[in-house]
Amino acid sequence: MAELIFTCDACDSHKLEEIRLNMIGAFRVIWIDREDSELKYGPLSHSGGCVSRYQCKNCRQIIARNHKDLLASKMIKPGE
Ligand SMILES: [Zn+2]
Repeated sequence: MAELIFTCDACDSHKLEEIRLNMIGAFRVIWIDREDSELKYGPLSHSGGCVSRYQCKNCRQIIARNHKDLLASKMIKPGE
């Protein structure tokens, strides 16, 4: 599988992130402290949501609003 190579034209970062809205996030409750009424949680699981935007993880520059525009971006190159 070809790895996507992203290079931000503002900060040269290679970290691209997809921001989703309206996701369902769920933590399994694994422990309850009765004295402090505090809960301890397992890892987050998530599902659903829709793509809001793709952005540079470092400087938050918005790269695209959807898949099509992302693939057309000059900051994206197919990997080896
Ligand atoms: Zn950046």
